[in-house]
Amino acid sequence: MEILTPRDVPLGGLRAMTVRRTLPQRQRTLIGAWCFVDHYGPDRVFESGGMDVPPHPHTGLQTASWLFEGEIEHRDSAGNHAMVRPGELNLMTAGSGISHSERTTTSADILAGIQLWIALPDQSRFTDAGFEHYAPPLIEGPGWRARVFLGSLLGDSSPVRTHTPLLGVELSLDAGARLDLAVDPAFEHGVLVDHGALEVEGRQLRRGELAYLEPGADQILLTVSQSTRILLLGGPPFGEQIVMWWNFIARSHEEIEQWRADWQAEISGSTAHSRYGLPEGDPGDPLPAPVLPGVRLQPRG
Ligand code: MN
Repeated sequence: MEILTPRDVPLGGLRAMTVRRTLPQRQRTLIGAWCFVDHYGPDRVFESGGMDVPPHPHTGLQTASWLFEGEIEHRDSAGNHAMVRPGELNLMTAGSGISHSERTTTSADILAGIQLWIALPDQSRFTDAGFEHYAPPLIEGPGWRARVFLGSLLGDSSPVRTHTPLLGVELSLDAGARLDLAVDPAFEHGVLVDHGALEVEGRQLRRGELAYLEPGADQILLTVSQSTRILLLGGPPFGEQIVMWWNFIARSHEEIEQWRADWQAEISGSTAHSRYGLPEGDPGDPLPAPVLPGVRLQPRG
């Protein structure tokens, strides 16, 4: 088992809130198709600035927003306008290209949650852009409560279809609980601690840490001495190398260059909106892409 510790990263925007990033890291790029894990809060929105990310592009991936507390307003260029709320999955498919904005609303003082990205496999990475919302039922047993937002666990299954098999579950454990999870041995798994602490397969895992478990096991044993909430992620090893830069997941440096140039051309008005477009009704200016590094971007994974 590998334990990935978070690093603090300021999120885009003028009043940048800080997130704790556990994926990607130097030693690990992917857990299944999960390729990005940003954990944030609980923060007081008036202190941290909350989430205030103006329109920005994505290509080659899906974003999954999962909140524990607070509310975020989502707008995208495919015409979707949605409120992201605790316990509800909001899954945005970028495919060949989309742009979106994410901003904290004034309805909640505290914000806490996780932003996840899913890499799309080569055969479907240029699929149409889209947006899905799913509120999984709360399922419970002795000392635990769970919401299965992607895949199947603990007798519940999400109806949301994905391009590779995936598991995504919020799980709360009461102090003293012990839970043996039956899992797919073809999957690798990640366990992220939102609050509390737990023992996974005999190793201690603290708040904010992400444990990586390799494929092969058909059960994962969790024990906690205090009240704890975790996110469990999983999927079969992705099996493709990816090139990740800014908001894009590509297969080559040249693709990244093209997608960046397309965004810059669209927001400067030098070409008509084509690949991305802009969300309607967002009050801010779109976020320009950073400058590409002077070296070629390398495939990882
Ligand atoms: Mn985004």
